[in-house]
Amino acid sequence: MSIYKMAASKRIALVAHDNKKKELIEWAIYNKSVLSMHRLFATGTTGKMLEKAIGIPITKFMSGPLGGDQQIGARIAERKIDVLIFFWDPMEAQPHDPDIKALLRLGVVWNIPFACDRSTADFLLTSPLMHQDYDVIQPDYSLYLKRPDR
Ligand code: PGA
Repeated sequence: MSIYKMAASKRIALVAHDNKKKELIEWAIYNKSVLSMHRLFATGTTGKMLEKAIGIPITKFMSGPLGGDQQIGARIAERKIDVLIFFWDPMEAQPHDPDIKALLRLGVVWNIPFACDRSTADFLLTSPLMHQDYDVIQPDYSLYLKRPDR
């Protein structure tokens, strides 16, 4: 079993689809003091709007449909993002649906805490684990990696 050490100060990625941006911004304003204790990352448009609303510097990737979701997914795989808050829109088809699916998949592949709605985001952000070191049990992919060449 391998362990990945998540530091007390988390690297949090924030993403919201257009119809969910207002909700994420309200949530972020409400939780500004907790968010300010961590390092924030976001897809382009979400990041721009959030930075303006909460005044905390945010590392902004490309806009989601232009590759931002994939950039966050890659950083999850590299263990450079610890937590994902992703308010995706269940009521509207998105042009980058495969990217969204890939991002959600990588969250599970690497066993990171992630929230896709406001209630879960509240539970996540109020967890004492947000403020202490945490040992993430890495899923064991050794058998998969050792599979015979085909
Ligand atoms: P955006 O991307 O923050 O650039 O709007 C979000 C997304 O649709 O993934």
